[in-house]
Amino acid sequence: MEEENSRKEYVNFRNKEKSVVSHIVVPGLKAIYQLFYKEASAVDRGSLYQLRNLINRRDVSGPKDVTQKVRLHQHFIVDVTDAYILASFWEIMEVEEEDGLKQKLPVFSIMNEEQHTKWLIDLSLKNLDNLYLREVNNFEQINQDLLSLSTEDEKIKRMKANNYHLCPFCGNSFSSLTWFKKHLKNKHNWNCHVWDKNVNPTFAVKHFLFMSLIFRDTCNAFC
Ligand SMILES: [Zn+2]
Repeated sequence: MEEENSRKEYVNFRNKEKSVVSHIVVPGLKAIYQLFYKEASAVDRGSLYQLRNLINRRDVSGPKDVTQKVRLHQHFIVDVTDAYILASFWEIMEVEEEDGLKQKLPVFSIMNEEQHTKWLIDLSLKNLDNLYLREVNNFEQINQDLLSLSTEDEKIKRMKANNYHLCPFCGNSFSSLTWFKKHLKNKHNWNCHVWDKNVNPTFAVKHFLFMSLIFRDTCNAFC
């Protein structure tokens, strides 16, 4: 009986995990990669594409491969997000490397819990300002974009039979998802969801962090 219950619990857990991955993780990651991962930005220092080359993350290849390599793409976004936040923290503390940080930190052992918390909150707020994250952003647009992307994914999933994607318009079959999408777009004028391209490059880091932090929070809430 106990064994049966733990098996059921395990199956429930696995089903929940699968659902979180397909409805939250994949659309969220696709959104981030479609918007911020651009080959054209390979020479822009600190862009996703430049960082991916710099730290040699060859397995990360952009929005078209997110579904097949979810975790690799997710880990890269987590690393870049943390790196931006840490870089901003160093900027606020006016240090250029970790060793210099020790001299700038207060003596935590003589601070009480209240002082400790206040120091942490003040610093976090400074960090949010430094990254322009306290400015108002357009939640509604992000919400709409995520929704259309998820709907599109569902539609394409329904065209899958075994290991092939079957075109509902002409009956051709495709083993590659990328080619299938190209076929739908070119032969049948299928409108694949396209993100609003009007992201001001000056605020690219702000927009990226805004989305990746919401994405992180959402994943944490469900996992
Ligand atoms: Zn077709």
